[in-house]
Amino acid sequence: MRIGFGYDVHRLRPGRKCILCGVEIPCDFGPDGHSDADVPVHALIDALLGAAALGDIGTHFPDTDQRWKNANSIELLKKAYNLVLLHGYCLGNADITIVLQSPRLSTYIEQMRKTLTSAIITDIENISIKVTTEEGLGFTGDSSGISAYVVVLLQPQN
Ligand code: MG
Repeated sequence: MRIGFGYDVHRLRPGRKCILCGVEIPCDFGPDGHSDADVPVHALIDALLGAAALGDIGTHFPDTDQRWKNANSIELLKKAYNLVLLHGYCLGNADITIVLQSPRLSTYIEQMRKTLTSAIITDIENISIKVTTEEGLGFTGDSSGISAYVVVLLQPQN
């Protein structure tokens, strides 16, 4: 088995869509970025690639490449996971933590888990999503940014 870790941060900006784990959250601000800036999915991609020692999201989907402008991060996730599969591994489980001061995300978690489950074809119990705030401290606390931490375990395919 192989372990991987991913971390991502994006600035929050008024008027941007707020898409997290492939689910659009009703909100008047969202993560800024070249793609749809789905922070937890970017961290998940980095954790998957890291576990397989296949580089990182920037190597495979550089933000200087116009192909990935406004990209749907779920599609990037599918491509990254395909690389993992090609190298003989599949997901054991993923544990995702999203750090955001507001809005509250708890009512969207099941939909997020289902979206990720169908993107990478795994059982829902293999995908954990947790949300937390940093109690008003730092860049997440003052809502200037959002971050996400992900750990994954890959296992050899049978
Ligand atoms: Mg990112």
